[in-house]
Amino acid sequence: MDCDKCDREAVMHAAYSGLHLCDDHFCRSVEKRLRRRIRDDDLLPASATPDDPQVWLIGLSGGKDSVVLTKILHDTFAEDPRIELLALTIHEGIEGYRDKSLDACLELTDDLDIRHEVVSYEEEFDLRMDDVVQKDPESMAACAYCGVFRRDLLSKYAEEYGADKLLTGHNLDDEAETALMNFLEGDVAQVAKHFDASLAGFDERSEQDEFVPRAKPLRDVPEKEVALYAHLENLPAHITECPHSSEAYRGEIQKLMLSLEENHPGTRHSIMAGYEELAKLAADEFGAGEGKRELNECERCGAATTRDVCRKCALVEAIHAV
Ligand SMILES: [Zn+2]
Ligand SMILES: [Zn+2]
Repeated sequence: MDCDKCDREAVMHAAYSGLHLCDDHFCRSVEKRLRRRIRDDDLLPASATPDDPQVWLIGLSGGKDSVVLTKILHDTFAEDPRIELLALTIHEGIEGYRDKSLDACLELTDDLDIRHEVVSYEEEFDLRMDDVVQKDPESMAACAYCGVFRRDLLSKYAEEYGADKLLTGHNLDDEAETALMNFLEGDVAQVAKHFDASLAGFDERSEQDEFVPRAKPLRDVPEKEVALYAHLENLPAHITECPHSSEAYRGEIQKLMLSLEENHPGTRHSIMAGYEELAKLAADEFGAGEGKRELNECERCGAATTRDVCRKCALVEAIHAV
């Protein structure tokens, strides 16, 4: 099969668009989608100048998504004095898992000459995920602890480095799965939160001074295409499942989504198109009324929280108490 845009051989066929593309045209199309998302979401404000640049902190795990995100952002903005890129890797303390992906992060940021910082649960919280799994004081999935710790560190360091935006590598599959899970769980407040936290364009977000705002520039690109891009561009990405991964429900949704997409190409795109509109309505509703919660400072660490002690500090204390 030939590429639809030139005479070279196609390396991929996207059932949802009907397009066959060669390696070059495919890679350019991934880059185009990421750049269009950055424009459509108004990620780069007109107020950014070379004297007062935007600092974008990238959550770099070493998996294909964040590696591809970092590479394209670098290729797009390295010469643009209005933007400063900086990557942060979080080491969870999982034997044999993070070490190889950390190597991938180091290789990439070294190649691209991007400032790279590494922080660990061990240094920050005096614990390793391997121990957390063993102690498990709250009897919950490892991913639930890990998610709380990771979000805490991303927010903390985004603030510490003076970042204007926190960028993560979530792809189309990730977002469509989250959307479907929120629907199936019937959690409208969560839908509103999802919209305000990462789907809304920056011109329509309500002010949330206590958090560095998030963005997901890869969220229009299907997971398979992100993987193909990493492969074709020869990027150092380390692709393995976390050994403690146990998000059983998300796994079910993943399977469902794959089979829906196979039988009805374009399902992920249409889920997101409809979800975004509904999520905006939900966010408007919650933003205006009683859904808006009062935030305090955590008594232990000062992070913004709706409680006296934030979830992260409560979990760290519970783990150390075992
Ligand atoms: Zn071509
Ligand atoms: Zn705290």
